[in-house]
Amino acid sequence: MQESSQAQLTSSGAATWLRNVRVFDGVSDQLSEPCHVLVRGNAIALVGDDGEQDGAAAPGERNVLEIDGAGNVLMPGLIDAHYHTAFASVSLQELMTGDLGYLGIRSAEAATETLLRGFTTVRDAGGPVFGVKRAIDEGRVVGPRIFPSGAMISQTSGHGDFRQPYEVPRGVCGHFAHIEIAGGSAIADGVSEVLRATREQLMHGASQIKVMAGGGVASSYDPLDVTEYTEVEMRAAVEAAENWGTYVTVHAYTDRAVQQAIRAGVRCIEHGQLVTEETVSIMAEHGTWWSLQAFGASEQQIAKFDPAQRARFRQVAEGTDRAYALAAKHGVKVAWGTDLLFDPAAAAGQGSMLVATRRWQTPFEVLRTATSGNAELLAMSGQRNPYPGALGVIRPGALADLLLVRGNPLTDLDLLASPDTSLSLIMRDGRIHKNTCPTTDDSGPQPGQH
Ligand SMILES: [Zn+2]
Repeated sequence: MQESSQAQLTSSGAATWLRNVRVFDGVSDQLSEPCHVLVRGNAIALVGDDGEQDGAAAPGERNVLEIDGAGNVLMPGLIDAHYHTAFASVSLQELMTGDLGYLGIRSAEAATETLLRGFTTVRDAGGPVFGVKRAIDEGRVVGPRIFPSGAMISQTSGHGDFRQPYEVPRGVCGHFAHIEIAGGSAIADGVSEVLRATREQLMHGASQIKVMAGGGVASSYDPLDVTEYTEVEMRAAVEAAENWGTYVTVHAYTDRAVQQAIRAGVRCIEHGQLVTEETVSIMAEHGTWWSLQAFGASEQQIAKFDPAQRARFRQVAEGTDRAYALAAKHGVKVAWGTDLLFDPAAAAGQGSMLVATRRWQTPFEVLRTATSGNAELLAMSGQRNPYPGALGVIRPGALADLLLVRGNPLTDLDLLASPDTSLSLIMRDGRIHKNTCPTTDDSGPQPGQH
């Protein structure tokens, strides 16, 4: 949070001129000609050339910052569609045993680091995140927009069951595991418990619901091949979410788990790297989103697993090659996320994971997916969207989440792997959280500027 105290924060209602920038708007594969972008409040007011700039700022408008972009590329803030704010930067051991207040502070630090890597929005795919989200939205902590799932809903023995063997059986009046009390996962069996667990997340403000539909790589109890929940239980979660105007996304890898989830009305599959072409065509038919990660793009990722987990991870990594190819062939909508877990060093490489996606997509496709593409997935939260407005695009009226890149990421995607040196400006919701560009202030000292 050191950086935020150095940042120039535009006060509410202030305007910022970003002069002499070339725009990647999140949609087009072509950069704009050099132009000027005006941000007023938390939204983009104007994207224009020299002729239009005069008069765009209201006469006498105070607190107008002028930033010289020096011909660099302005792009929408990055969106990570599968992130775990609370789990990315702490070890599993710390998570399972840590004091909840301490873990909350660690989450807040991690959120600040996430934003300073250029990720202005994350879809949080599970974890105790409502508190840190609230603190960010209130301006107490610097961080990205968070679309929270809250606790990951898991059956007993499922991918969200982190209990030790001695904690089972739970019993009628049995205790909750530490991670359940923390709000990290919710163990729920049967329709009524699934309904309750789903509604508890919605009560806290979940923008979508995350359910574990099958085994995982880093699981204690559930092999990759298992299917979790019955179709009836899964449908219960879907109905409770849809009654609240939003959707369920599931962790699943296999044909059986994915097909059952789709039959139950699930709208998005996280991972899914082991499915066959038949399932991909079913996803295309139902308009199901496929939220993929760059698993297997580096050996470094594999090194952190124990030998048994490594074999499973390699299986998934090979599946990623097939997944991108099949998604493209069948026109399935692909989102991108990192799923970084329990490792601060890996979390620091969030941008590198985006760059690694180049193995399957062109730089333009990578950038479009991580901006306007992921934003389309976020919009499925409907009225549960905590941040109404257009994200992932640069156009008048869109929310002002912006990055200024020293160079052109469309031709040099590697720039995004080194945000510290490559990003000269990070703005979220109209507020500047990093700025190393020459800046002039039209109106003297500003309120709220440190
Ligand atoms: Zn995950």
